[in-house]
Amino acid sequence: MLYLVPTPIGNLDDITYRAVRTLREVDLIACEDTRTSGVLLDHYDIDTPTTAYHEHNEHDKTPQLVTRMRAGHDIALISDAGSPGISDPGFYIVRACRDEGIDVQPLPGPTALVPALTASALPSDRFVFEGFLPKKKGRQTRLQALASEPRTMVFYEAPYRLLRTLDDFIDHFGPDRPAAVARELTKTYEEVERGTLQEVRSYFGAYDQVRGECVIVVHGAD
Ligand code: SAM
Repeated sequence: MLYLVPTPIGNLDDITYRAVRTLREVDLIACEDTRTSGVLLDHYDIDTPTTAYHEHNEHDKTPQLVTRMRAGHDIALISDAGSPGISDPGFYIVRACRDEGIDVQPLPGPTALVPALTASALPSDRFVFEGFLPKKKGRQTRLQALASEPRTMVFYEAPYRLLRTLDDFIDHFGPDRPAAVARELTKTYEEVERGTLQEVRSYFGAYDQVRGECVIVVHGAD
């Protein structure tokens, strides 16, 4: 059995009882980064063996993990933060489990996109999750296609690329499009800045340096 276990995106209290119990009971935890996850596992006194599973080794490692699961071992997959498979490794091993007839149990839990969307004050009845925009190739094409997207759009972005991405949104969606940036969710310096794209750009442009992780939410086209 493969368990997909979401872990906190900052605040270590944001984990379910079932997630902790699952992480204690499985035979092996596949972690994106064993040192990062070690902090969480220590905090909850979880001493289950871990192994590294990330975007650079998932193709080689998946067959080994599948062999163990076929032999009857239970494995939990966790990422550095949030839900495995959401802009994080997960898809590849879940597909391998499907092909091999191995059961997959997804646990519900933390992810950055949902609190960013629900706090954005933008329509949340329909939305598209775009994850990270392409950095170079395909970026302009994607932005052009999204300019007419009527649903609320949710993007992940690294802090050092936030201003550049907001500038691209202003160029393609216009400066008056309502938006929100949720930064450092669940952490000490959590903030959700709402306004037009231009207003949000000006707010973060005044920072010496934007730090912390960000989710950008943009109103759909009228
Ligand atoms: N699997 C994660 C999830 O379920 O949200 C996403 C992992 S992705 C590699 C990392 C991105 O998630 C960051 O660049 C940022 O856009 C977003 N993110 C993660 N933690 C966050 C937080 N505490 N506050 C705001 N955004 C966060």
